[in-house]
Amino acid sequence: MSEEANPFESLQSQIDEAATYLDIGDDVIERLKHPERVLETNLTIERDDGDLERFKAFRSQFNGDRGPYKGGIRYHPQVSRDEVKALSGWMTYKTAIVDIPLGGGKGGIVINPDDYSEAELERLTRSFAKELRPMIGEDRDVPAPDVNTGQREMNWIKDTYETLENTTEPGVITGKALDSGGSEGRVEATGRSTVLAAREAFDYLDKDLEGATVAVQGYGNAGWIAAKLIDRMGATVVAASDSSGGIYNPDGFDPVGAKQHKNETGSVVGYSESEEEITNDEVLTLDVDLLIPAALENAVDEDLAKDVKADVISEAANGPLTPAADDVLEGKDVFVIPDILANAGGVTVSYFEWVQNRQRFSWSEERVNDELETVIVDAFDALVEAYEENDLENPRTAAYVVAIQRVADAFEEAGSWP
Ligand code: GLU
Repeated sequence: MSEEANPFESLQSQIDEAATYLDIGDDVIERLKHPERVLETNLTIERDDGDLERFKAFRSQFNGDRGPYKGGIRYHPQVSRDEVKALSGWMTYKTAIVDIPLGGGKGGIVINPDDYSEAELERLTRSFAKELRPMIGEDRDVPAPDVNTGQREMNWIKDTYETLENTTEPGVITGKALDSGGSEGRVEATGRSTVLAAREAFDYLDKDLEGATVAVQGYGNAGWIAAKLIDRMGATVVAASDSSGGIYNPDGFDPVGAKQHKNETGSVVGYSESEEEITNDEVLTLDVDLLIPAALENAVDEDLAKDVKADVISEAANGPLTPAADDVLEGKDVFVIPDILANAGGVTVSYFEWVQNRQRFSWSEERVNDELETVIVDAFDALVEAYEENDLENPRTAAYVVAIQRVADAFEEAGSWP
Protein backbone atom coordinates (compact mmCIF):
# COMPACT_ATOMS: atom_id res chain seq x y z
CA MET A 1 0.00 0.00 0.00
CA SER A 2 1.50 3.34 -1.00
CA GLU A 3 1.45 6.23 1.44
CA GLU A 4 -1.91 8.05 1.64
CA ALA A 5 -1.94 11.14 -0.59
CA ASN A 6 -2.49 14.51 1.11
CA PRO A 7 -5.63 15.88 -0.62
CA PHE A 8 -4.38 19.48 -0.46
CA GLU A 9 -1.18 18.48 -2.27
CA SER A 10 -3.34 16.58 -4.80
CA LEU A 11 -5.37 19.74 -5.46
CA GLN A 12 -2.21 21.82 -5.93
CA SER A 13 -0.68 19.33 -8.34
CA GLN A 14 -3.91 19.27 -10.38
CA ILE A 15 -3.73 23.09 -10.62
CA ASP A 16 -0.02 23.02 -11.56
CA GLU A 17 -0.70 20.45 -14.27
CA ALA A 18 -3.47 22.57 -15.86
CA ALA A 19 -1.46 25.79 -15.48
CA THR A 20 1.09 24.54 -18.02
CA TYR A 21 -1.60 24.91 -20.69
CA LEU A 22 -2.73 28.38 -19.55
CA ASP A 23 -1.34 31.82 -20.23
CA ILE A 24 -1.70 32.96 -16.62
CA GLY A 25 1.15 34.40 -14.56
CA ASP A 26 2.77 32.23 -11.87
CA ASP A 27 1.84 34.86 -9.28
CA VAL A 28 -1.86 34.51 -10.08
CA ILE A 29 -1.64 30.71 -10.15
CA GLU A 30 0.08 30.81 -6.75
CA ARG A 31 -2.90 32.74 -5.38
CA LEU A 32 -5.31 30.19 -6.84
CA LYS A 33 -3.54 27.33 -5.01
CA HIS A 34 -4.28 28.56 -1.48
CA PRO A 35 -7.43 29.33 0.52
CA GLU A 36 -8.17 32.95 1.35
CA ARG A 37 -8.79 32.04 4.98
CA VAL A 38 -9.44 29.04 7.25
CA LEU A 39 -11.37 29.09 10.52
CA GLU A 40 -10.18 26.51 13.04
CA THR A 41 -12.34 26.31 16.12
CA ASN A 42 -12.93 24.09 19.13
CA LEU A 43 -16.55 23.37 19.98
CA THR A 44 -17.37 22.18 23.49
CA ILE A 45 -20.79 20.68 24.09
CA GLU A 46 -22.51 18.85 26.90
CA ARG A 47 -22.98 15.11 26.40
CA ASP A 48 -26.29 13.56 27.45
CA ASP A 49 -24.62 12.27 30.66
CA GLY A 50 -23.59 15.80 31.65
CA ASP A 51 -19.88 15.52 30.74
CA LEU A 52 -18.33 18.07 28.39
CA GLU A 53 -16.60 17.07 25.15
CA ARG A 54 -14.49 19.15 22.79
CA PHE A 55 -14.54 18.80 18.99
CA LYS A 56 -12.25 20.39 16.42
CA ALA A 57 -14.00 22.06 13.47
CA PHE A 58 -12.94 23.97 10.36
CA ARG A 59 -14.34 26.21 7.63
CA SER A 60 -12.13 27.06 4.67
CA GLN A 61 -13.08 29.93 2.36
CA PHE A 62 -10.92 29.17 -0.64
CA ASN A 63 -11.92 31.69 -3.27
CA GLY A 64 -14.68 34.29 -3.62
CA ASP A 65 -13.72 35.89 -6.95
CA ARG A 66 -16.82 34.55 -8.74
CA GLY A 67 -19.34 34.88 -5.91
CA PRO A 68 -20.09 33.85 -2.32
CA TYR A 69 -18.04 30.93 -0.97
CA LYS A 70 -20.03 27.72 -1.41
CA GLY A 71 -19.61 24.19 -0.19
CA GLY A 72 -20.67 21.58 2.28
CA ILE A 73 -19.95 20.68 5.89
CA ARG A 74 -18.90 17.11 6.66
CA TYR A 75 -18.91 15.16 9.93
CA HIS A 76 -16.19 12.52 9.82
CA PRO A 77 -13.33 11.29 12.01
CA GLN A 78 -10.87 11.85 9.13
CA VAL A 79 -11.67 15.57 8.76
CA SER A 80 -8.46 17.64 8.92
CA ARG A 81 -7.34 21.15 8.09
CA ASP A 82 -5.69 20.01 4.84
CA GLU A 83 -8.69 17.93 3.81
CA VAL A 84 -11.06 20.88 4.28
CA LYS A 85 -8.66 23.19 2.40
CA ALA A 86 -8.52 20.75 -0.52
CA LEU A 87 -12.27 20.25 -0.60
CA SER A 88 -12.83 24.03 -0.58
CA GLY A 89 -10.44 24.37 -3.55
CA TRP A 90 -12.26 21.63 -5.44
CA MET A 91 -15.51 23.57 -4.79
CA THR A 92 -13.95 26.69 -6.33
CA TYR A 93 -13.14 24.91 -9.58
CA LYS A 94 -16.42 22.95 -9.46
CA THR A 95 -18.58 26.10 -9.40
CA ALA A 96 -16.35 27.51 -12.15
CA ILE A 97 -16.53 24.53 -14.55
CA VAL A 98 -20.34 24.48 -14.28
CA ASP A 99 -20.29 28.28 -14.52
CA ILE A 100 -22.54 29.21 -11.61
CA PRO A 101 -21.80 32.56 -9.90
CA LEU A 102 -20.33 31.16 -6.68
CA GLY A 103 -16.91 30.65 -5.13
CA GLY A 104 -15.60 27.71 -3.11
CA GLY A 105 -15.66 26.80 0.57
CA LYS A 106 -15.88 23.71 2.78
CA GLY A 107 -16.23 22.89 6.45
CA GLY A 108 -16.07 19.92 8.72
CA ILE A 109 -16.18 18.62 12.27
CA VAL A 110 -13.87 15.83 13.42
CA ILE A 111 -16.45 13.36 14.72
CA ASN A 112 -17.97 9.96 14.09
CA PRO A 113 -21.64 10.97 14.26
CA ASP A 114 -22.76 7.36 14.81
CA ASP A 115 -21.41 7.57 18.35
CA TYR A 116 -23.66 10.48 19.38
CA SER A 117 -27.36 11.00 20.06
CA GLU A 118 -29.54 13.27 17.96
CA ALA A 119 -29.73 15.79 20.81
CA GLU A 120 -25.92 15.84 21.09
CA LEU A 121 -25.56 16.35 17.33
CA GLU A 122 -28.07 19.19 17.46
CA ARG A 123 -26.11 20.93 20.24
CA LEU A 124 -22.88 20.46 18.30
CA THR A 125 -24.37 21.69 15.02
CA ARG A 126 -25.86 24.78 16.67
CA SER A 127 -22.55 25.46 18.38
CA PHE A 128 -20.77 25.32 15.00
CA ALA A 129 -23.45 27.57 13.45
CA LYS A 130 -22.82 30.12 16.21
CA GLU A 131 -19.08 30.11 15.40
CA LEU A 132 -19.77 30.36 11.66
CA ARG A 133 -22.33 33.14 11.97
CA PRO A 134 -19.99 36.11 11.39
CA MET A 135 -18.51 34.55 8.26
CA ILE A 136 -21.59 33.12 6.56
CA GLY A 137 -24.66 34.74 4.96
CA GLU A 138 -26.45 34.46 1.63
CA ASP A 139 -24.02 36.94 0.03
CA ARG A 140 -20.95 35.79 1.98
CA ASP A 141 -20.62 32.06 2.39
CA VAL A 142 -23.37 29.49 1.89
CA PRO A 143 -22.77 26.04 3.46
CA ALA A 144 -24.53 22.82 2.41
CA PRO A 145 -24.58 19.10 3.22
CA ASP A 146 -21.60 16.82 2.65
CA VAL A 147 -20.50 13.44 4.06
CA ASN A 148 -22.73 12.47 7.05
CA THR A 149 -24.76 15.69 7.05
CA GLY A 150 -28.13 16.33 5.43
CA GLN A 151 -31.40 18.22 5.68
CA ARG A 152 -31.60 17.86 9.46
CA GLU A 153 -28.27 19.59 10.09
CA MET A 154 -28.97 22.27 7.45
CA ASN A 155 -32.35 23.08 9.06
CA TRP A 156 -30.62 23.47 12.46
CA ILE A 157 -27.96 25.78 11.01
CA LYS A 158 -30.56 27.90 9.24
CA ASP A 159 -32.62 28.16 12.43
CA THR A 160 -29.60 29.09 14.57
CA TYR A 161 -28.45 31.74 12.10
CA GLU A 162 -31.92 33.25 11.64
CA THR A 163 -32.57 33.29 15.39
CA LEU A 164 -29.26 35.02 16.19
CA GLU A 165 -29.63 37.48 13.30
CA ASN A 166 -33.33 38.07 14.05
CA THR A 167 -34.24 37.67 10.39
CA THR A 168 -35.45 35.17 7.79
CA GLU A 169 -32.65 34.30 5.39
CA PRO A 170 -33.16 30.77 4.04
CA GLY A 171 -30.48 31.35 1.37
CA VAL A 172 -27.80 31.30 4.10
CA ILE A 173 -27.60 27.53 3.64
CA THR A 174 -28.74 24.98 1.04
CA GLY A 175 -29.75 21.34 1.14
CA LYS A 176 -32.61 22.14 3.53
CA ALA A 177 -35.81 20.11 3.82
CA LEU A 178 -38.57 21.23 1.44
CA ASP A 179 -40.68 22.79 4.20
CA SER A 180 -37.66 24.74 5.46
CA GLY A 181 -36.95 26.29 2.06
CA GLY A 182 -35.23 23.39 0.31
CA SER A 183 -35.45 22.66 -3.41
CA GLU A 184 -37.07 19.85 -5.32
CA GLY A 185 -34.41 17.61 -6.81
CA ARG A 186 -31.60 18.56 -4.38
CA VAL A 187 -31.29 15.16 -2.68
CA GLU A 188 -30.91 13.36 -6.03
CA ALA A 189 -28.77 16.01 -7.71
CA THR A 190 -25.26 14.63 -7.07
CA GLY A 191 -26.14 11.15 -8.30
CA ARG A 192 -28.03 12.67 -11.22
CA SER A 193 -25.09 14.72 -12.51
CA THR A 194 -22.78 11.72 -12.07
CA VAL A 195 -24.88 9.70 -14.51
CA LEU A 196 -25.64 12.61 -16.86
CA ALA A 197 -21.89 13.19 -17.18
CA ALA A 198 -21.38 9.44 -17.76
CA ARG A 199 -24.06 9.50 -20.47
CA GLU A 200 -22.28 12.41 -22.20
CA ALA A 201 -18.93 10.62 -21.97
CA PHE A 202 -20.32 7.39 -23.42
CA ASP A 203 -21.83 9.40 -26.25
CA TYR A 204 -18.53 11.22 -26.86
CA LEU A 205 -16.61 7.93 -26.88
CA ASP A 206 -19.22 6.27 -29.11
CA LYS A 207 -20.00 3.70 -26.46
CA ASP A 208 -23.43 2.30 -25.71
CA LEU A 209 -24.80 2.93 -22.23
CA GLU A 210 -27.63 0.47 -22.88
CA GLY A 211 -26.46 -2.81 -21.36
CA ALA A 212 -23.18 -1.30 -20.08
CA THR A 213 -21.98 -2.81 -16.80
CA VAL A 214 -21.53 -0.54 -13.78
CA ALA A 215 -19.80 -0.86 -10.39
CA VAL A 216 -20.58 1.62 -7.61
CA GLN A 217 -18.17 2.02 -4.67
CA GLY A 218 -20.00 3.69 -1.75
CA TYR A 219 -23.76 3.44 -1.31
CA GLY A 220 -24.59 6.71 0.45
CA ASN A 221 -26.74 9.42 -1.08
CA ALA A 222 -24.59 9.99 -4.18
CA GLY A 223 -23.76 6.34 -4.90
CA TRP A 224 -27.14 4.76 -4.53
CA ILE A 225 -28.98 7.48 -6.48
CA ALA A 226 -26.40 7.16 -9.28
CA ALA A 227 -27.00 3.38 -9.27
CA LYS A 228 -30.77 3.86 -9.44
CA LEU A 229 -30.63 6.41 -12.27
CA ILE A 230 -28.05 4.57 -14.40
CA ASP A 231 -30.17 1.42 -14.10
CA ARG A 232 -33.14 3.44 -15.42
CA MET A 233 -31.00 4.56 -18.37
CA GLY A 234 -30.61 0.91 -19.37
CA ALA A 235 -27.21 0.10 -17.86
CA THR A 236 -26.70 -2.94 -15.60
CA VAL A 237 -25.46 -2.40 -12.06
CA VAL A 238 -23.34 -5.47 -11.26
CA ALA A 239 -21.54 -4.41 -8.07
CA ALA A 240 -21.89 -2.05 -5.13
CA SER A 241 -20.15 -1.58 -1.81
CA ASP A 242 -20.19 0.32 1.45
CA SER A 243 -17.84 0.41 4.43
CA SER A 244 -18.87 -3.15 5.40
CA GLY A 245 -18.00 -4.71 2.02
CA GLY A 246 -19.32 -5.29 -1.47
CA ILE A 247 -21.84 -7.32 -3.45
CA TYR A 248 -21.55 -8.70 -6.99
CA ASN A 249 -23.84 -10.29 -9.52
CA PRO A 250 -22.52 -10.50 -13.11
CA ASP A 251 -26.13 -10.45 -14.39
CA GLY A 252 -26.98 -7.32 -12.42
CA PHE A 253 -29.30 -6.60 -9.49
CA ASP A 254 -31.99 -4.12 -8.56
CA PRO A 255 -30.16 -1.11 -7.03
CA VAL A 256 -33.29 0.07 -5.23
CA GLY A 257 -33.62 -3.33 -3.53
CA ALA A 258 -29.97 -3.07 -2.46
CA LYS A 259 -30.71 0.30 -0.85
CA GLN A 260 -33.75 -1.11 0.95
CA HIS A 261 -31.56 -3.93 2.26
CA LYS A 262 -28.99 -1.36 3.46
CA ASN A 263 -31.73 0.66 5.19
CA GLU A 264 -32.92 -2.46 7.02
CA THR A 265 -29.57 -4.01 7.94
CA GLY A 266 -27.04 -1.16 7.76
CA SER A 267 -25.18 -2.57 4.72
CA VAL A 268 -25.63 -3.77 1.14
CA VAL A 269 -23.81 -6.97 2.17
CA GLY A 270 -26.21 -9.91 2.39
CA TYR A 271 -28.62 -8.53 -0.23
CA SER A 272 -30.62 -11.44 -1.69
CA GLU A 273 -29.90 -10.55 -5.36
CA SER A 274 -26.13 -10.65 -4.78
CA GLU A 275 -24.29 -13.74 -6.06
CA GLU A 276 -21.03 -13.13 -4.30
CA GLU A 277 -19.53 -11.01 -1.53
CA ILE A 278 -16.50 -9.02 -2.65
CA THR A 279 -14.24 -6.40 -1.08
CA ASN A 280 -14.26 -2.66 -1.75
CA ASP A 281 -10.99 -2.99 -3.69
CA GLU A 282 -12.51 -5.77 -5.80
CA VAL A 283 -15.46 -3.48 -6.65
CA LEU A 284 -12.99 -0.83 -7.80
CA THR A 285 -11.06 -3.25 -10.02
CA LEU A 286 -13.92 -5.17 -11.67
CA ASP A 287 -13.97 -5.47 -15.44
CA VAL A 288 -16.89 -3.10 -16.03
CA ASP A 289 -17.73 -0.41 -18.58
CA LEU A 290 -18.32 2.27 -15.94
CA LEU A 291 -16.94 2.68 -12.43
CA ILE A 292 -18.53 5.16 -10.03
CA PRO A 293 -16.40 5.84 -6.92
CA ALA A 294 -18.86 7.44 -4.51
CA ALA A 295 -17.16 7.31 -1.10
CA LEU A 296 -14.17 9.31 0.14
CA GLU A 297 -10.84 10.67 -1.13
CA ASN A 298 -7.96 8.41 -2.18
CA ALA A 299 -10.12 5.32 -2.88
CA VAL A 300 -7.84 4.48 -5.81
CA ASP A 301 -4.10 4.93 -5.35
CA GLU A 302 -1.26 4.21 -7.76
CA ASP A 303 -1.13 0.47 -6.92
CA LEU A 304 -4.85 -0.13 -7.20
CA ALA A 305 -5.04 1.94 -10.41
CA LYS A 306 -2.84 -0.66 -12.10
CA ASP A 307 -5.65 -3.19 -11.58
CA VAL A 308 -8.55 -0.93 -12.61
CA LYS A 309 -10.29 -2.40 -15.67
CA ALA A 310 -13.17 0.06 -16.19
CA ASP A 311 -13.28 2.04 -19.46
CA VAL A 312 -14.93 5.13 -17.96
CA ILE A 313 -14.88 6.49 -14.40
CA SER A 314 -17.43 9.06 -13.22
CA GLU A 315 -16.34 10.51 -9.88
CA ALA A 316 -19.34 10.94 -7.57
CA ALA A 317 -16.98 11.40 -4.61
CA ASN A 318 -14.57 14.31 -4.23
CA GLY A 319 -10.95 13.35 -4.87
CA PRO A 320 -11.37 9.55 -5.14
CA LEU A 321 -8.26 9.12 -7.34
CA THR A 322 -4.80 10.22 -6.25
CA PRO A 323 -2.69 12.13 -8.83
CA ALA A 324 -0.43 9.08 -9.14
CA ALA A 325 -3.50 6.94 -9.87
CA ASP A 326 -4.54 9.49 -12.49
CA ASP A 327 -1.20 9.06 -14.25
CA VAL A 328 -1.58 5.28 -14.33
CA LEU A 329 -5.15 5.51 -15.66
CA GLU A 330 -4.14 8.04 -18.30
CA GLY A 331 -1.57 5.54 -19.54
CA LYS A 332 -4.33 2.91 -19.78
CA ASP A 333 -6.70 5.24 -21.69
CA VAL A 334 -9.36 5.22 -19.00
CA PHE A 335 -11.67 8.21 -19.52
CA VAL A 336 -12.06 9.84 -16.10
CA ILE A 337 -14.88 12.36 -15.72
CA PRO A 338 -13.48 14.51 -12.92
CA ASP A 339 -15.32 15.06 -9.64
CA ILE A 340 -15.54 18.81 -10.22
CA LEU A 341 -17.86 18.10 -13.14
CA ALA A 342 -19.35 14.67 -12.41
CA ASN A 343 -20.62 15.45 -8.92
CA ALA A 344 -21.36 19.15 -9.56
CA GLY A 345 -25.10 18.45 -9.62
CA GLY A 346 -25.22 18.88 -5.85
CA VAL A 347 -23.87 22.40 -5.84
CA THR A 348 -25.75 23.29 -9.02
CA VAL A 349 -29.10 22.46 -7.45
CA SER A 350 -27.88 24.19 -4.28
CA TYR A 351 -27.46 27.24 -6.48
CA PHE A 352 -31.03 26.77 -7.78
CA GLU A 353 -32.21 26.48 -4.16
CA TRP A 354 -30.42 29.72 -3.28
CA VAL A 355 -31.98 31.47 -6.32
CA GLN A 356 -35.46 30.22 -5.32
CA ASN A 357 -34.89 31.38 -1.72
CA ARG A 358 -33.95 34.84 -2.90
CA GLN A 359 -36.89 34.97 -5.31
CA ARG A 360 -39.25 33.58 -2.63
CA PHE A 361 -40.54 31.33 -5.38
CA SER A 362 -40.36 27.53 -5.87
CA TRP A 363 -39.53 25.66 -9.05
CA SER A 364 -41.04 22.31 -10.05
CA GLU A 365 -38.87 19.19 -9.90
CA GLU A 366 -39.09 19.00 -13.68
CA ARG A 367 -37.68 22.52 -14.07
CA VAL A 368 -34.85 21.80 -11.62
CA ASN A 369 -33.88 18.59 -13.43
CA ASP A 370 -34.11 20.20 -16.88
CA GLU A 371 -31.94 23.15 -15.88
CA LEU A 372 -29.46 20.82 -14.18
CA GLU A 373 -29.17 18.76 -17.35
CA THR A 374 -28.43 21.90 -19.39
CA VAL A 375 -25.71 22.97 -16.95
CA ILE A 376 -23.99 19.55 -16.96
CA VAL A 377 -24.19 19.11 -20.73
CA ASP A 378 -22.77 22.62 -21.30
CA ALA A 379 -19.94 21.97 -18.81
CA PHE A 380 -19.12 18.65 -20.49
CA ASP A 381 -19.01 20.39 -23.88
CA ALA A 382 -16.64 23.03 -22.48
CA LEU A 383 -14.42 20.24 -21.11
CA VAL A 384 -14.35 18.47 -24.47
CA GLU A 385 -13.49 21.70 -26.27
CA ALA A 386 -10.50 22.29 -23.99
CA TYR A 387 -9.54 18.58 -24.20
CA GLU A 388 -9.40 18.66 -27.99
CA GLU A 389 -7.99 22.17 -28.42
CA ASN A 390 -5.04 21.45 -26.13
CA ASP A 391 -4.67 17.87 -27.29
CA LEU A 392 -4.89 16.64 -23.69
CA GLU A 393 -4.77 13.03 -22.53
CA ASN A 394 -6.57 13.72 -19.32
CA PRO A 395 -10.15 15.08 -19.05
CA ARG A 396 -9.42 16.28 -15.49
CA THR A 397 -6.75 18.66 -16.78
CA ALA A 398 -9.21 19.89 -19.42
CA ALA A 399 -11.78 20.71 -16.72
CA TYR A 400 -9.16 22.60 -14.69
CA VAL A 401 -7.99 24.51 -17.77
CA VAL A 402 -11.54 25.85 -18.24
CA ALA A 403 -12.23 26.42 -14.55
CA ILE A 404 -8.93 28.10 -13.62
CA GLN A 405 -9.24 30.47 -16.59
CA ARG A 406 -12.71 31.53 -15.41
CA VAL A 407 -11.55 32.20 -11.83
CA ALA A 408 -8.41 34.02 -13.02
CA ASP A 409 -10.50 36.19 -15.38
CA ALA A 410 -12.82 37.22 -12.55
CA PHE A 411 -9.83 38.01 -10.34
CA GLU A 412 -8.04 40.06 -13.00
CA GLU A 413 -11.19 41.89 -14.13
CA ALA A 414 -11.80 43.01 -10.55
CA GLY A 415 -8.51 44.96 -10.58
CA SER A 416 -6.20 45.34 -7.63
CA TRP A 417 -6.97 46.37 -4.09
CA PRO A 418 -4.26 47.29 -1.57
N1 GLU B 1 -21.02 18.86 -0.63
C1 GLU B 1 -21.39 18.93 -2.02
C2 GLU B 1 -20.16 18.98 -2.90
O1 GLU B 1 -19.11 18.53 -2.54
C3 GLU B 1 -22.41 20.03 -2.28
C4 GLU B 1 -21.97 21.42 -1.99
C5 GLU B 1 -23.06 22.46 -2.08
O2 GLU B 1 -24.19 22.11 -2.40
O3 GLU B 1 -22.76 23.61 -1.81
O4 GLU B 1 -20.20 19.42 -4.03
